[in-house]
Amino acid sequence: MNAPVLETEEHQALRAAVAALGRRYGRDYMTRVVAEEGHPDELWADAAKLGYLGVNLPEEYGGGGGGIAELSIVLEELGAAGSPLLMLVVSPAICGTVIARFGTDEQKRQWLPGLADGSRTMAFGITEPDAGSNSHRITTTARRDGDDWLLTGRKVFISGVDIADATLIVGRTEDARTGRLKPCLFIVPRDAPGFARNRIDMEVQAPEKQFELVLDDVRLPADALVGDEDAGLLQLFAGLNPERIMTAAFSVGMARFALERAVEYAKERAVWKSPIGAHQAVAHPLAQSHIEIELARLMMQKAARLYDEGDDMGAGEAANMAKFAAADACVKAVDQAVHTLGGNGLSKEYGLASLIVASRVARIAPVSREMILNFVSHQTLGLPKSY
Ligand SMILES: Cc1cc2nc3c(=O)[nH]c(=O)nc-3n(C[C@H](O)[C@H](O)[C@H](O)COP(=O)(O)OP(=O)(O)OC[C@H]3O[C@@H](n4cnc5c(N)ncnc54)[C@H](O)[C@@H]3O)c2cc1C
Repeated sequence: MNAPVLETEEHQALRAAVAALGRRYGRDYMTRVVAEEGHPDELWADAAKLGYLGVNLPEEYGGGGGGIAELSIVLEELGAAGSPLLMLVVSPAICGTVIARFGTDEQKRQWLPGLADGSRTMAFGITEPDAGSNSHRITTTARRDGDDWLLTGRKVFISGVDIADATLIVGRTEDARTGRLKPCLFIVPRDAPGFARNRIDMEVQAPEKQFELVLDDVRLPADALVGDEDAGLLQLFAGLNPERIMTAAFSVGMARFALERAVEYAKERAVWKSPIGAHQAVAHPLAQSHIEIELARLMMQKAARLYDEGDDMGAGEAANMAKFAAADACVKAVDQAVHTLGGNGLSKEYGLASLIVASRVARIAPVSREMILNFVSHQTLGLPKSY
């Protein structure tokens, strides 16, 4: 795939360098890690050494001083090589961003250098059993006990809690004046008493696992609350836009990986007199996939630029659209790639079949395609709400 002309020379150099790292690992490495129930520690460490994991975090805390544009390049290129790192979506992108923008000086000093050099990671927990698409129904609640907080609730599908040093939990506190519940973010250390996790058995083949979390009066010090108790929603949205842009990057990377395998195969495989790629029934869907991937990436770049320039509102719409387009492009690219390989598309050797499940994740998480259509219907087009 050609280097995108919209990117600076630095971006293109970063793309090339990350792609080179990705090629050293690739899909075989990830498949092995998953089979061994391990974690991609070697790739994580190498990416950390090269400064890729914290490219978006402030330089004064050991980061690269870039933005989500740079971090999305890192994730896309690792994905295009077949070895995406899902924790980039949560640790530096959501948690790093929220702490860098809203954390206290002490929280920044405590967390950002580790998140930037990859020596520490943080998971992110918002989804609850009765509050998936509707995050207004979150019931995980924090109440004051002296200077401490006591946090109680349940979360589901939270990725990487077993390897993360802490999880940024979205909870609620009671407004002292109005009695209404307002969202707040808490840093919960992995080994905090009362913080239990149960692995959810998923069909997705990835090294990052999902967990149900039970928080039973987890006692947290006052400074576990990120930033300002009254600015919870603003802080939350600051993390959700990067999450959507990074999910788009994840999908674009996976789509490129699948499309490339299909194109290589279609050039070689001949069952009549010319390679199967000469048949338009094979070539056109691949060409269409390429177009859809490029368009999704363009929207992702727009979203990242708006976000990095501080336009949270503009970035919100673009990030949703980018995630929508990238997830759809990815599902279709993977499906077409599997089909292009015929029987080999379902073989373990070619490693595409398991992507059928993996490619669906971005259609569901962190926000489903229907909720994005709802957002665009209501926010962009001004249509009435059905729910
Ligand atoms: C692999 C994986 C990793 C994840 N990692 C994390 C994580 O790290 N942290 C975290 O907090 N969460 C995580 N999640 C959870 C994810 O964000 C949720 O699954 C997602 O928000 C959807 O919520 P739900 O599963 O409860 O679906 P539901 O909200 O129950 O939705 C089910 C279906 O109904 C549709 N629907 C719901 N409401 C409407 C409506 N108003 N109009 C039209 N359609 C509607 C949805 O589009 C969807 O198709 C992860 C999920 C997966 C699969």
